[in-house]
Amino acid sequence: MRKNYLHLDFKGIAPLPHKWREYLELFKNLGFEGILLELDCKYAWKTWRGVTWDRYSESDIRRMVSIARDMGFAVSLLIQMQGHLEWALAGEKYASFRESGFISEICPSNPAAVRKIEEWIDEAIALCPDAPYLHLGGDEVSHLCSCSECRKRSSCAEDPRMSIYLDHARRCCERVAEKGLRPMLWSDVFVSRKCYDSIKTLPPETILVNWCYNEKAPFSGLAEMQATGYEIWGAPAIRCGPDCLSGIYDEQRVTARIDNIRQWQQTGTDLLHTVWGRSSSFNFLYPPWHCFADAFAEAGTNGAAWSIDGDDTFAIQSRRWRSLGKKYTELQQRGFLLFKSIAGIIRVSHHVDRPELFNADCLSPAKKLDAEILQLGRELHSFFEDNGLSDADEFIDTRLAMLRPSLPHPQDLKDEDFMLQMRRKLRQVSPDIDETGKG
Ligand SMILES: [Zn+2]
Repeated sequence: MRKNYLHLDFKGIAPLPHKWREYLELFKNLGFEGILLELDCKYAWKTWRGVTWDRYSESDIRRMVSIARDMGFAVSLLIQMQGHLEWALAGEKYASFRESGFISEICPSNPAAVRKIEEWIDEAIALCPDAPYLHLGGDEVSHLCSCSECRKRSSCAEDPRMSIYLDHARRCCERVAEKGLRPMLWSDVFVSRKCYDSIKTLPPETILVNWCYNEKAPFSGLAEMQATGYEIWGAPAIRCGPDCLSGIYDEQRVTARIDNIRQWQQTGTDLLHTVWGRSSSFNFLYPPWHCFADAFAEAGTNGAAWSIDGDDTFAIQSRRWRSLGKKYTELQQRGFLLFKSIAGIIRVSHHVDRPELFNADCLSPAKKLDAEILQLGRELHSFFEDNGLSDADEFIDTRLAMLRPSLPHPQDLKDEDFMLQMRRKLRQVSPDIDETGKG
């Protein structure tokens, strides 16, 4: 039987501790047997004291891990050995660890930075007892070997970048293997550089995980990596980018995820289904898991028995999210049309002296739209609260701001001030309009 695991990225919207068991029951029913938790900056890591954004305490995580294990899940953690560390390196405290000043990566030639990663490996292993794996990340290290120290250290190597990467990866993997866990690494560095033979320099316990979200099977590099004799897993995405422009529910995005999962299922490899929270700690939040309910069902080995039309909580709440998503899209379209129509009305006023036109065709619909946007915000807050989800304020604030980009907010202003601000905004588009609306 192939393995069917879920990667849950907590740097985005995730369940609060009191709802954790409920989501695990869903995952159990859908047919997932293992959980890989990426706590990222949201856990109070002792290793990174002072730079984490503590949402979960040590007792929260220990309890969440133990609940999952008691339910029969294999539970492991994912940390970062090199890249995707912007949350830790952006501030001054660890600025000296950066590779050539880039905030996303440590320099693996900096002994203090390497010691910090080793300390983190030890803390992660202690936090999640009996974990079968520790995933070390290792993906998307685009600034690899760009500093003078890394270049000097690798100057005799045939492939300097790969030699720096492998040296650090091997040491981290060995540290994990010595403690009795199997290290995992993302495989994109090996696939993009077609360096498949170099996998053999890693400890034999190492597992390479090949994430690939937009190709069709056969996936690039999969056969070559399998030929090394190392254990290779595939990784489709249940939730991933693009970030935010398609609203808060987009059926096409979900369909694309389902296609990706099916392609990977055809390969017969062990699968780690990735559920990203956002593309980096500093980027847009992806919508809640409910948005991707059909993709979760597709990925689960018992998912065929689950339907979004069912009467379980996840199905009911997923339908609720869809209906909020449709409202969002409708308001997005209306806002765009209203802004265009107001621009036209301003031009009409160049030719026809009829000031009341503004009130009827501009102010009233703008007020109505704004009130509906605020109402949607309240409904979104209720959704987050009812489903025990984190990051409500950030998600709702960001997405509502994107619905109200062009208009002043008429709820907050007197009518005449709204019109004045509207004209000022439109002057940016048509500079020949003066603030009284005339050309
Ligand atoms: Zn370096």
